[in-house]
Amino acid sequence: MAGLASTEDRGVSAAPLLEGRGVDRRSFLAFCGLMASTLVLPESYVPAIAKALGAAKRPVLVWLEFQDCAGCTESFLRASNPSVGGLVLDTLSINYHETLMAASGKDAEALLKQTVGNERGQYIAVVEGAIPTKDNGVYCTIGGRSALDIAHEVCSNAAAVITVGACAFYGGWPSANPDPTGAVGLGSAMPGTKIVNLPGCPPNGVNITATLVHFLTFGAMPEVDAMGRPLFAYGELIHDSCERRAHFDAGEFVQAWGDDAHRKGWCLYEMGCKGPETHHNCASVRWNDGTNWPVGAGHGCIGCSEPGFFDADTPFYKRLPNVPGFGVQTTADEIGVGIVALTAAAFATHGLISIVRNRLQPEVVDEPTVPVEREEN
Ligand code: SF4
Repeated sequence: MAGLASTEDRGVSAAPLLEGRGVDRRSFLAFCGLMASTLVLPESYVPAIAKALGAAKRPVLVWLEFQDCAGCTESFLRASNPSVGGLVLDTLSINYHETLMAASGKDAEALLKQTVGNERGQYIAVVEGAIPTKDNGVYCTIGGRSALDIAHEVCSNAAAVITVGACAFYGGWPSANPDPTGAVGLGSAMPGTKIVNLPGCPPNGVNITATLVHFLTFGAMPEVDAMGRPLFAYGELIHDSCERRAHFDAGEFVQAWGDDAHRKGWCLYEMGCKGPETHHNCASVRWNDGTNWPVGAGHGCIGCSEPGFFDADTPFYKRLPNVPGFGVQTTADEIGVGIVALTAAAFATHGLISIVRNRLQPEVVDEPTVPVEREEN
């Protein structure tokens, strides 16, 4: 963030927030700059973000966990620089979070009831995990109440509702075949509810933080696509910003783990990469504070931000069948020609889809449609 003025120079005082955390202004501004770039906002929005994070008012957040592994919570909390990443936690008042709060048992449930009663229409509800619907939801109960019952009470009284992770998005691994509990995402459990979905297994903590920062800064959730996913994080295909894309276009593919092409960093399409059909910003924001991301580390994308990925994208190392022109008997030149035509068509289609999405911007988002299982070609 070279060239940025201090917060005071920009008419913003974040001193109360920085005090006691050992965070210097430069780190704070770098964090605000990261949030602006993740949200695809110009740098001129940095002061507004800094001001929002420095505000005295602390919006209340209620974080529910149902059928999950708590991996989304871990993703949200795992910042290599917790002093800076924790600023958002300090800006929020997290009244209920089973993994984080000290209270337990009846005290915890009383806290939830009190928050929903006192902060009605004011708090942000975050849902992690799927909701079982079979046998009256008996497969996930908390304090004697079903997940479905709790979700209805908390989410219908919230100012904004966010789902984090594939499970809360469409059902995730709990809903994978044979789906013994009838697990569904929040959109299906509560049709007609306005929801912002942050799918992924887990979702990138940067995108969770950026969504909350957007709400804190603008008082509204970011724009979403037809499945309720914020456009800043899910508006583009991984394939279109992948550092291995030039090798895809040139027909240069890894054929076996550890082969010469793998060591050279060639395209992982033949090894089952789902990047050509997966919408996510992993390639640009990366993971672990920008250190790397799965494709960068040599493993193909598994498509975890798309609905139904756990059934539709397995086996994960099976090549996507819907791009013709590939096969052991196909020459590299033929592959290249085929891909150029397909790439042009894909760009045209994606552009059209983006335009339609931008125009639609639905108010209400229901459960995403799970695609039919792919067939091997
Ligand atoms: S197929 Fe995967 S590895 Fe190859 S360019 Fe696309 S996203 Fe990158």
